[in-house]
Amino acid sequence: MEEKRNGLRVILFPLPLQGCINPMLQLANILHVRGFSITVIHTRFNAPKASSHPLFTFLQIPDGLSETEIQDGVMSLLAQINLNAESPFRDCLRKVLLESKESERVTCLIDDCGWLFTQSVSESLKLPRLVLCTFKATFFNAYPSLPLIRTKGYLPVSDSEAEDSVPEFPPLQKRDLSKVFGEFGEKLDPFLHAVVETTIRSSGLIYMSCEELEKDSLTLSNEIFKVPVFAIGPFHSYFSASSSSLFTQDETCIPWLDDQEDKSVIYVSLGSVVNITETEFLEIACGLSNSKQPFLWVVRPGSVLGAKWIEPLSEGLVSSLEEKGKIVKWAPQQEVLAHRATGGFLTHNGWNSTLESICEGVPMICLPGGWDQMLNSRFVSDIWKIGIHLEGRIEKKEIEKAVRVLMEESEGNKIRERMKVLKDEVEKSVKQGGSSFQSIETLANHILLL
Ligand code: UDP
Repeated sequence: MEEKRNGLRVILFPLPLQGCINPMLQLANILHVRGFSITVIHTRFNAPKASSHPLFTFLQIPDGLSETEIQDGVMSLLAQINLNAESPFRDCLRKVLLESKESERVTCLIDDCGWLFTQSVSESLKLPRLVLCTFKATFFNAYPSLPLIRTKGYLPVSDSEAEDSVPEFPPLQKRDLSKVFGEFGEKLDPFLHAVVETTIRSSGLIYMSCEELEKDSLTLSNEIFKVPVFAIGPFHSYFSASSSSLFTQDETCIPWLDDQEDKSVIYVSLGSVVNITETEFLEIACGLSNSKQPFLWVVRPGSVLGAKWIEPLSEGLVSSLEEKGKIVKWAPQQEVLAHRATGGFLTHNGWNSTLESICEGVPMICLPGGWDQMLNSRFVSDIWKIGIHLEGRIEKKEIEKAVRVLMEESEGNKIRERMKVLKDEVEKSVKQGGSSFQSIETLANHILLL
């Protein structure tokens, strides 16, 4: 039965990346349950599957991206798409507003903090805009100060200072900084400035996070961006990400896990964006094989640089890997993490993956690729102490050791116990009466009054 409608429509506009589409469509579901009608405007590139969400209206806009621009890496793709999509987005939004029925007022736009033109477009159309941030609030809070941190002279980092905390950005360590900034350096500054400035002009900031994970950062966020902040919990606690998957999920993962012992499997995935070299790929393969632990490994096609999929593995290595493990192109991750057989997660610590792991109580081995992953992994290993950090050492011995410690040794048990405590706290937060649950009500009321 269709839930009661409240006569208001919300327009959503996700960034076309898996880690941004999942939360946006989960948010769509959260708001739909509370009576809002939903229109999703999306680019042609990485278009979400409308047929998986029959309750929402989907409107596609052209993005003008060429195949080479799509291959160019996330930062340049985002820069290009921000240039190309403004005018089609403006036209589309204007049309939606013109055609909106009297009985169903369009109340606001909610879009990703990475869109740079949406604040101006929505202001020109007199439509309030809320920002969805898919990073941990601690990371987003650092946007205004990242240019300053870059010029502080911490880089290049000497060995003796590598483990020092960055004073302006704890618990980040100085050795993490080069991977936060990547090769972009000062080219990032205008982007960061625009994101901060447009967020300050917005009508609110929504985080997939909760007080149990970062109360102080959420308070600080409110001070920095001077807008109401809503931390409504890990979105996938309310709605699975499966239906918004851009890739075909290998459903044989679950029957394979059914045949494994409880908490015996190490799940390995580096998300939808991180790439690795062939050498790193082979080191991970040997490390997993030598650990003698069952594993389920997602190797996204194209994620090993220079290879289509797993062809750099020799036949001998494939057969030794197949003795204990399974390699797939894309997994139903949330279901995998929730499976009783999964006992650990070797992850790149994207914020979605980190939250999904916490919610299922699965301890982690941290192999962050860059940007916010560097901070998320520090929280996992150094603050919450619910995982082991590989410190970027993609070496077979290190991987084998980390898997063993996590899955077999007493240190692994202690990590598991701490993980259980954190999982329970976050779980309470999304239940009736919990802080995230209440924050959804506050958000819904905020939108009603816009
Ligand atoms: N994911 C999935 N199957 C996979 C790997 C990832 O469904 O094999 C999902 C995962 O559950 C998460 C998202 O893809 O919701 C990845 O988002 P995250 O923020 O962790 O990383 P990103 O891909 O943005 O780097």
